[in-house]
Amino acid sequence: MHITHYLPRALPEPLAGLTTLALDLRWSWHHGTDTLWRTVDPQLWEETRNPWLILESVSDQRLEDLAADAQFIEALRQQLEMKEQHFQGETWFASQYGSTFQGYVAYFSMEFGLSESLPIYSGGLGVLAGDLMKTACDLGVPLVGIGLLYQQGYFRQALDAQGEQIEFYPYNDPTMLPVVPLTDDSGEWVNVTVELPGRLLRLRVWHVEVGRRSLFLLDSNDPLNNPGDRGITSELYGSGQKSAQEMRLQQEIVLGIGGWRLLEKMGIECPVCHLNEGHAAFAILERAHSFMLHSKLPFDVALRATRAGNLFTSHTPVEAGFDRFPPELLLRYFRDYAKQLGISEDQLLALGRSDAYDHGEPFNMAYLAFRGAGAVNGVSRLHGRVSRHIFQPLFPRWPTAEVPVAYVTNGVHAATWDSAVADTLWTNACGKMRWLGTLETIESALRCVDDQALWDFRCQGRHALVEFLNPRLVRQNDNHEGLHEQTKGLAPDFLTLGFARRFTGYKRTNLLLHDPQRLTRLLTSRDRPVQLVIAGKAHPQDSEGKRMIREWTDYLRQPELQGRVVFMEDYNLVVAAEMVQGVDIWINTPRRPWEASGTSGMKVLVNGGLNLSELDGWWAEAYRPELGWALGDRQEHHDTAAWDAAEAEQLYRLLEEEVVPSFYRRDVNGLPHEWIARMRESMAQLSAQFSSNRMLREYTERFYVPMAETCKQRHDDNAALAAGIEEWHTLLRQHWDKLYFGNITAEAIAEGIRFQVQVYLDGLPPDAVSVELYAEDPAGGQPLRRPLTRTAALLGVNNAYLYEGTVAQDRPASDYTSRIVPSHPSALVPLEAAFITWYK
Ligand SMILES: *Cc1c(COP(=O)(O)O)cnc(C)c1O
Repeated sequence: MHITHYLPRALPEPLAGLTTLALDLRWSWHHGTDTLWRTVDPQLWEETRNPWLILESVSDQRLEDLAADAQFIEALRQQLEMKEQHFQGETWFASQYGSTFQGYVAYFSMEFGLSESLPIYSGGLGVLAGDLMKTACDLGVPLVGIGLLYQQGYFRQALDAQGEQIEFYPYNDPTMLPVVPLTDDSGEWVNVTVELPGRLLRLRVWHVEVGRRSLFLLDSNDPLNNPGDRGITSELYGSGQKSAQEMRLQQEIVLGIGGWRLLEKMGIECPVCHLNEGHAAFAILERAHSFMLHSKLPFDVALRATRAGNLFTSHTPVEAGFDRFPPELLLRYFRDYAKQLGISEDQLLALGRSDAYDHGEPFNMAYLAFRGAGAVNGVSRLHGRVSRHIFQPLFPRWPTAEVPVAYVTNGVHAATWDSAVADTLWTNACGKMRWLGTLETIESALRCVDDQALWDFRCQGRHALVEFLNPRLVRQNDNHEGLHEQTKGLAPDFLTLGFARRFTGYKRTNLLLHDPQRLTRLLTSRDRPVQLVIAGKAHPQDSEGKRMIREWTDYLRQPELQGRVVFMEDYNLVVAAEMVQGVDIWINTPRRPWEASGTSGMKVLVNGGLNLSELDGWWAEAYRPELGWALGDRQEHHDTAAWDAAEAEQLYRLLEEEVVPSFYRRDVNGLPHEWIARMRESMAQLSAQFSSNRMLREYTERFYVPMAETCKQRHDDNAALAAGIEEWHTLLRQHWDKLYFGNITAEAIAEGIRFQVQVYLDGLPPDAVSVELYAEDPAGGQPLRRPLTRTAALLGVNNAYLYEGTVAQDRPASDYTSRIVPSHPSALVPLEAAFITWYK
């Protein structure tokens, strides 16, 4: 892959290396170059943390001075050398798969939250994508990111004097972002085009350097485009305008189709395409389209050849969360495209529907992603289970437990979220390279840290948060004539609770306010005081979310809560990092099962914070009594008002009777041993398990590597295998309705229960199917499947057979049902052939 470096402004020769350092986003988690940038311009650095912006804005005079400063030049030389050395080390991926894996994993995401200097994310989905890219750099996983460069991104939040949210959309001037135009060999700015109704849309391409990995961002703000089209990549999850849905469709066309075209144009071979949520699912169509053009094969075969390399990660816990487009809108944009694919409009629409014959059904992007994937996963164990229910409509008559959705629990990039003191503590315990390998020794090494060291580190983290927050609160008040009453700062030694998330109904961001007087009593205790830091945005269209912000801002203005509750404006990566590094307890109160995974609570782990959270998402699989606190009963509840009240009661009781006493129960030296024991267990047991290192290794081992291999098999010999699977599937389609069972007998014999099952296969070759006994697990686990053996042809009929098999006698014969399912040595069943016939 060829990336030309772009020079922003003429730098004095000795400083040329600054460009290299400023463009590599690794500074955002590595911090080795922080002192360099602080030296260049201390004020800009504190305010923006954006080296690129500093480099673009600093005066010529200052640059001249620095070029003559031998100490600075030496520090710069050292950083450049360390960068070079770092990238020479062998990575985990190179040592495991370096000689076998070829090409790249293309990672498509609507948002990337890498650093606040590149604000092209709104929340958890983007932060996850950012953490995954950084980890790909750490582990050497060959992954390229594909996203959009938004001119405005997501809104910025402030609070007015009444405590209402106000929204700003500052313009992201690309010259101030750490991105450069992607140029080709002849120095021309690379662009790709996609077709929109009656016109072509030109997309400019930007390059972001994430250590050794590349992120490509597409942008429609090309002066040659229609004025209206230039704004397609303006806002992330924009609302306001009435054509929001059409804008979203256009963005998804840019991301999926434009993104895949870019990879083709750059000659970047990607056997694996990872779709982070269904937004990018059009990449599936374009990938198949491109394969058709090269192979001259029809669309159905091309899709079968390419889908084996597409991984779809779903993040949505409810059906309503999927993107859906009205059929007429979709067709307006895809009528010509369907022609290019050689399929009818109905065939195209059927790819996004659960029922191909329901002409009113909207086009669902998650269904398209499912229909074009070789594997699908949810983002926590519980979310995997929930997703099997959500996608059940694509697998009619299949047991929910067999709906093919795996799970890979999310993780966070430890080096991004740890504080400077945490970095020191972990380096002493586990060494500098601790997040670059396979993490086996983390747990035992961390267990060796003594109580005193853990408590010092915790207190330093809290102090740093207070130092960050107090001046910010003052500024927050001055800026917008904001919450004037909020003038008293936080105290460094009080038990500090953190609560930050998107304000929306299911997150129940006001559960703590269920009984305001009880909360006030808790916070204002004279002997055991507690303070609470709150942050979070409500989507501009979410009036319930805005009301919940207002509830908090009304509450915290009471005089006795001065310095006990603060609301930080503009929750973003910087505020999030400061909070997770400083708080003692992270509270999360979503309504189960709506939190697919959640990641913010994982960010406190390396910093010694503890979680008090609903047993939902990741916490449902992480929680143990010795390392944190849990809300809820592992069930879903439908009477929400009554259940919310019960959970609020549980939350208060936990805080009053367990959390607060445990924090303030000190020995003669002032150490809270019970609290520290929880910290140690939480850090030792969970930091590695919920790291993005573990997550990306899991994606690599279970999906990327095997999928690349399967995809290659399907591509070989001009897709002979894919064509064979397509033929098999055509036969199944033609005959499936006419399969039926004859007699079934079950007989007790010495070895167990012998089943004899007669099956009529119409025109299907017998090895195209498998006949099985099926029994549900009474404990709710994986069902039992026992394939039967074809033993004889039935007399007097064509193509009908006796199948036989014996099962143990520990369960009654009536527990077993017979069924016919598709069978093919290389096909994915039921993912790409969801036929099934049950006896009776
Ligand atoms: C981690 C993070 C999120 C995700 O938080 P959850 O509450 O776990 O969904 C959202 N926004 C920001 C700024 C974050 O850093």
